[in-house]
Amino acid sequence: MSDFIPVNTPLIEGNEIKYVTEALSTGWISSEGPFVKEFESKFANFCDRKFGSSVTNGTDALLLALMAIGIKKGDEVIMPSFTIISCAQTVVQLGGIPVFVDCDADTYNMRADQVEEKISSKTKAIMGVHIYGLTCDMDVLTELGKKHNLFVIEDAAEAHGQTYKGKKCGSLGDISTFSFYANKHITTGEGGMVVTDNQELFDKCQYYKNLCFTRERRFVHTELGHNMRMTNIQAAIGLAQLEQIDKFIEIKKEMGKFYSEKLAGLKNYTLPKERNEFSENHYWVYPLVSKDLKATEIMSKLGKRGIGTRPFFYPLHKQPVFEIYEHLKGQSLPITESIAEMGFYIPSGLSLTTDQRQRVCDILLEELS
Ligand SMILES: *Cc1c(COP(=O)(O)O)cnc(C)c1O
Repeated sequence: MSDFIPVNTPLIEGNEIKYVTEALSTGWISSEGPFVKEFESKFANFCDRKFGSSVTNGTDALLLALMAIGIKKGDEVIMPSFTIISCAQTVVQLGGIPVFVDCDADTYNMRADQVEEKISSKTKAIMGVHIYGLTCDMDVLTELGKKHNLFVIEDAAEAHGQTYKGKKCGSLGDISTFSFYANKHITTGEGGMVVTDNQELFDKCQYYKNLCFTRERRFVHTELGHNMRMTNIQAAIGLAQLEQIDKFIEIKKEMGKFYSEKLAGLKNYTLPKERNEFSENHYWVYPLVSKDLKATEIMSKLGKRGIGTRPFFYPLHKQPVFEIYEHLKGQSLPITESIAEMGFYIPSGLSLTTDQRQRVCDILLEELS
């Protein structure tokens, strides 16, 4: 198994070691270090946002954004069912209720046209999530937000540097979140950021992520928050990664085109679309949806041939942990349910070599034709 091709490996070949060494040798290792502010301001700027608040991971970025907009007990947040648990669990952790919509069969992104029918008197926010490399329809969500007086959150954890109708992902809606986990376009190992143009929301992020310290008297607290602070060491990595982001996105696009060309002959599989009406695919991952065999069967075949894969997200409305919710009982979101069973993705990391890509294609064509 020595030449097993993992589903993802990051690319660390810029100034990462230099900046981390600087952080260590100057003794600035906590969140009180100069790289944190620099990374926040440069990343916010990269997203065409005024403010950036770095955190420990993308899940915390969502929790912080939800706290900043004031989600509390009984508030409903509308979101896609086809996404990571983080989107829903953070709402639940604040006492809120996640309400799910189906996704589009071609792009796996949420059906913006199915959101309005889910709006109730308890709805407080809509969460748009960009999935796998293409974007969801943020304009429709923003319009609905205005019309019904709701906050719009953009989870751009898979869409650093992506654009929606020419506008940067992360600049859409009231508040946007990112993850810098090792498999994202840029990484800090673990890490995340909330970005916004709204001073008040930003101030709340800074407050809630830092144990709700107040200026008046340190160690006196009127509210409870979290410690979600990113370290200077992580920010050092992030800064070096951000310097290379254009190159990283080029690599992903090239990978996607390579796979699409070589795998075009796989008749029983749906390959990802090169673009939708809003964006050109950045191929955060390269997803395949089978038309006959179940994903588990295919993934086990490919695993035996040394190809790493991952299944698609599991429908959030079917999560065992959410069985307590009456409103989810018997809910059917057919596209989400079907792609969750039939979909998987293949090695898509930034450090995948041309030889590895070719081998992935050769084996897929052998095993799946
Ligand atoms: C990765 C991801 C997250 C969570 O980020 P972590 O850093 O792993 O906590 C949230 N939302 C989406 C869409 C993601 O892909």
